[in-house]
Amino acid sequence: MEKKPFVTKEQLEAIAKEYPTPFYLYDEKGIRENAKALLEAFSWNKGFKEYFAVKATPNPFILKILREMGCGTDCSSLTELMMSRACGFRGHEIMFSSNDTPPEEFKLADELGAIINLDDFTHIACLEEVLGKIPETICCRFNPGGVFEIANGIMDNPGDAKYGMTEEQMTEAYKILMEKGAKHFGIHAFLASNTVTNEYYPMLAKVLFELAVRLKKATGANIEFINLSGGIGIPYRPEQEPNDIRVIGAGVKKAFEEILVPAGLGDVAIFTELGRFMLGPHGVLVTRAIHEKHIHKEYIGVDACAANLMRPAIYGAYHHITVMGKENAPCDHKYDVTGSLCENNDKFAIDRMLPKIDMGDLLVIHDAGAHGFSMGYNYNGRLRSAELLLKEDGSVEMIRRAETPEDYFATFDFCPIFRDQS
Ligand SMILES: *Cc1c(COP(=O)(O)O)cnc(C)c1O
Repeated sequence: MEKKPFVTKEQLEAIAKEYPTPFYLYDEKGIRENAKALLEAFSWNKGFKEYFAVKATPNPFILKILREMGCGTDCSSLTELMMSRACGFRGHEIMFSSNDTPPEEFKLADELGAIINLDDFTHIACLEEVLGKIPETICCRFNPGGVFEIANGIMDNPGDAKYGMTEEQMTEAYKILMEKGAKHFGIHAFLASNTVTNEYYPMLAKVLFELAVRLKKATGANIEFINLSGGIGIPYRPEQEPNDIRVIGAGVKKAFEEILVPAGLGDVAIFTELGRFMLGPHGVLVTRAIHEKHIHKEYIGVDACAANLMRPAIYGAYHHITVMGKENAPCDHKYDVTGSLCENNDKFAIDRMLPKIDMGDLLVIHDAGAHGFSMGYNYNGRLRSAELLLKEDGSVEMIRRAETPEDYFATFDFCPIFRDQS
């Protein structure tokens, strides 16, 4: 699929006049249309709900848009819970899918009435100790072990993943939780990440639906929801075929009708916890070319760095780059596009064929809307950029200001030297 920015060069230049580069820009229209398509794809399921994975794009303005679309949030830390609370999410609009959970975080999750998803058997005792009770609605996370395969190969390796419980533990957990007062049960699993195939969700659904039938038989537990979690991916590369959410929804429906309905589980609600699929393509990192360097290779230095978007540096991830205004120019120059960190892996692209880049050109780094800004860090004292929202009416709203040196030094505020510095 050809990758086109959701803004024009003229629009971007106007935005950059007011907000200096680098910045993240999100596309409200794209976010809403995509969320709508997801809801439609699963409209056959009465209780369907998407719990947006907050860690993908933890910004209250984004969360509010998704809330308006009918989504909840999936949190796994104290501050994600706090942000959900601030945005008005309450009760079963919040899913708390944490692992290695600090006990006090269960407390806030319970105060908010969130659905707590237990990652481990030992969390039953932990939960009981911090809450003094077991919530009536509870979810357990499953790990089948082994490798997770679909027709055309291995997708991921749950046997090596730290998450979830074995089936034996799930069975035992359900029995104990029932004894302790739990009444409404859920199942959760996340077995493969960034899958660019319509087969992942239906395959996962089959595994979890069959597990639900066995668990119900073994424990008598009232299984009310099955959370397919995240993992639907996006085509980072132009040659990749995007997922078709309607095909995915229909595939899950088929498994639902074949497995759950005959077992008397036709009322089970399907939940999702998508992050990347919801926001990935609808956010870009905008940066400007500020240096060119000709040594053993050709380098273009930009004003963003891996501290703004670390996926290329840590995963070798591909992010498509558009040189604004040169969309139709031939890609006849081979560049490494680099940031300023004193680390050689700070490269947004290596040996990438691009149009000739001139100093001052605006570059759009695509598919940065999820797990982009949120993975940012402060290495080399680099500061986090602003986040901007391109609204449906074409106006731009700042939804997070850029960090300042004062923010960077804020954790020394107890210390007189730095107080006087800033
Ligand atoms: C990260 C995560 C998600 C979202 O994953 P995506 O790949 O962004 O869809 C959902 N659920 C849990 C528990 C996660 O850790």
